[in-house]
Amino acid sequence: MSEGDDTTTAESIAAREKQAKAEKDAKDRETCDKYVQKGLNWNVTVQFLLERLVQLGCPPPPGLIRCVDCGDKPAAGGFGVVEEVEAATTLPPKDRDPSKKYCAQTQKEINTLLADQRDGKAKLKLLPEIFLCQQHFRDETHAHEAMVHELIHAVDMCRTKMDPMTNCIHMACTEIRAENLSGECSWIRELGNGRMGSFAGHGAKCVKRRAALSVKANPNCAEKADEYVEAAFERCFKDTFPFDRHPNLR
Ligand SMILES: [Zn+2]
Repeated sequence: MSEGDDTTTAESIAAREKQAKAEKDAKDRETCDKYVQKGLNWNVTVQFLLERLVQLGCPPPPGLIRCVDCGDKPAAGGFGVVEEVEAATTLPPKDRDPSKKYCAQTQKEINTLLADQRDGKAKLKLLPEIFLCQQHFRDETHAHEAMVHELIHAVDMCRTKMDPMTNCIHMACTEIRAENLSGECSWIRELGNGRMGSFAGHGAKCVKRRAALSVKANPNCAEKADEYVEAAFERCFKDTFPFDRHPNLR
């Protein structure tokens, strides 16, 4: 085979892989969108939380929940896009459009904004937005759990002056509540994951483990994530607001 043939083959393989990926992305998005629609239309827990948001004075903006491509990130989804509301510097970095508010999604972008905030160069706030990672979901139930998880964060942001970006106890608390109330730590789910240890106290252990993982994703809180979760645990694990009791005990 000549060199030319090799190049052509490599190119066509790359082109085919690219096309296959595009097709998979489109299919993932379609499936995820379908899960979200079904959740909005049929999942009573999702509907209950959306109604509570309205009653609490935080009507969800249209398109509150959307599916996005999270690449290789292991996350199921997230709440809030970090937004720079005020840049104190007169000369913004040249890769940012000064006329636009700046939204950060990646860990690196968030770290940069956090550093700017510490130096007094920028003010940050969280936009009420829920994103679900389209390629992440095993099935519809899994997607609906992620929706409930993020809606618990939205409820917490609405009912208190919570500042999870800089207050690590706040962040630990809302993660404990979201893990606990979403059903992500139900024993059936964990049985499927092969993590079912002892029956008693299992839910609590799972909530702690998963909440600590989420807190670690915040660079401000990563170092002592387990301690923050421990400190907030007792109070926040039994706080089932806006449910009267744990929704999975029905
Ligand atoms: Zn969370």
